Amino acid sequence: MAGKTYPKPKSPQEYLVQGCDRPWEVEIAPFRVSPNVYYVGNNWVGGYLIRTDEGLMLIDTTMHAQIYLLLESIRQLGFDPRDIKMILVTHGHYDHHGGVRPIAEYTGAKVFFPKEDEYMLTEQPELQFTLGYACGEFEIDEYYADNKPITLGHVTVHTVHTPGHTAGTTSMFIEDRDENGKSFVVGLHGGVGLGSVTDAYFEEYGQPKSLQDDYLASLHKLRGRKVDIAVALHPSHLGMFEKIGEDRLDFTPFHDPSVWEAFIDHRIKLFEDMKAAS
Ligand SMILES: [Zn+2]
Repeated sequence: MAGKTYPKPKSPQEYLVQGCDRPWEVEIAPFRVSPNVYYVGNNWVGGYLIRTDEGLMLIDTTMHAQIYLLLESIRQLGFDPRDIKMILVTHGHYDHHGGVRPIAEYTGAKVFFPKEDEYMLTEQPELQFTLGYACGEFEIDEYYADNKPITLGHVTVHTVHTPGHTAGTTSMFIEDRDENGKSFVVGLHGGVGLGSVTDAYFEEYGQPKSLQDDYLASLHKLRGRKVDIAVALHPSHLGMFEKIGEDRLDFTPFHDPSVWEAFIDHRIKLFEDMKAAS
């Protein structure tokens, strides 16, 4: 981390301010999580780069002010960011889509976005939580559909609509394989934060409270999936940084088929605790 340590923010809002005002303070070197999937985000919010034999895919972009870190991470791994052919956005919050505009313009990549979150870009932009930071409008090229996997080269991403955190939150399951043909499913929940499913949030922003039921139903929907390697949009949710080995390209510390279910169960418990306390 550039050999320096910085004060750790105490809330998502503080993280956002730090990450936008002083992005160098959230820098983290990239690392590999599966044969062809790399973490290229920062120490607060993730971006996942998928290498295929027909170019690169990027899941989430981090924030506008942070894209120089993301592009630098991609180059450090030996890839050319201009080979990004597709940008997949998990949901309509700024920390995930804030870099779409410049990256799409730079690469000409096709932008995938959840249809149910489009109103956050148009009718209710306050729901993106940009806190006034630069964003930039972008065109959506395609919406997700559960029955329409996204394929580039030898890699396929299955998307699953998992509303709750936002109406369009989309989880992703990447079918990856190593050079010997051994396959690995990488699982990524599209948004687990509870801040946008509280009673107070629904009241303040006029969102339907049914999203709470959706949140829980989505977790149950994902629970039984077979996932070899679980990763998170906010890596701290899975203690990912503690797992990085000396060789940052060694993905084996992340290969643990028991992690996914434990993660989902933990999120169910956190949600139920929140409900019980309200
Ligand atoms: Zn979010």
